[in-house]
Amino acid sequence: MYLREPCYDIDELKKENLHIHTFYSSCAKPSMDIETIVRQAEKAGLRRIAVTDHFNDPDFPVVEYNEEMRKKVKQLGAKVDVLFGAELSAYGIGKFLDRTEINKALDYRLYSCNHYHLDYWEHPEDKTPRGYAEHALKVVEALAKSGRADCVAHPFIGRFVKIFEDRNLITNSITDNEIGDILTILKENNVAYELNAGAVIGYPEFARRIWNIGKEVGVVFHMGMDAHRPESVDTADAAENFKKILL
Ligand SMILES: [Zn+2]
Ligand SMILES: [Zn+2]
Repeated sequence: MYLREPCYDIDELKKENLHIHTFYSSCAKPSMDIETIVRQAEKAGLRRIAVTDHFNDPDFPVVEYNEEMRKKVKQLGAKVDVLFGAELSAYGIGKFLDRTEINKALDYRLYSCNHYHLDYWEHPEDKTPRGYAEHALKVVEALAKSGRADCVAHPFIGRFVKIFEDRNLITNSITDNEIGDILTILKENNVAYELNAGAVIGYPEFARRIWNIGKEVGVVFHMGMDAHRPESVDTADAAENFKKILL
């Protein structure tokens, strides 16, 4: 379990990268072993990182992999604090792929709520942008209230729904009031909202709305690069982009 105090200074936020895939995620580069990741993080001057492999199969042995990596990090005498977590799946309203024992064994529980491109993911009956927006809001709300999550990864962005030509239709259909309400629910349930590199840079207008309303509400933002390659462990370039987009 990990949640920081609210912080809206990007130069502070960038000292953490809480979304990193190792080679145990099939989409990550084979060079993403824990030693390489730790060395990259140290070189970048990061204070804390989280490894968050995809959990798309209830039998994926994430706890065993994490314990293996934890031993290795101890041997390395790493200067960076490493959280051993997972990118878990809230694949529908109140639906979670991880068993409670797995959830409890993780240092950091990052949840995806919108991996609609995966075959087991629940879709709304109403397959319009607004239908997806309402579904996603309900999935995030149920997740926040479940007590299972530390942070929500790349919420609401449309890139995983492949049926609309304009990827902004879903996020555009969410009102400022709805953003205020969902961020308040996250805050009240001690769940952070991820400033995901791809989501902020790919959906700048929506990211700015989230940032401004989030500051008012007092939500906690966590920074996550969604790193799949060693170069993306460093947060410096993304942080500069975040400043241009958000401030
Ligand atoms: Zn994801
Ligand atoms: Zn990811």
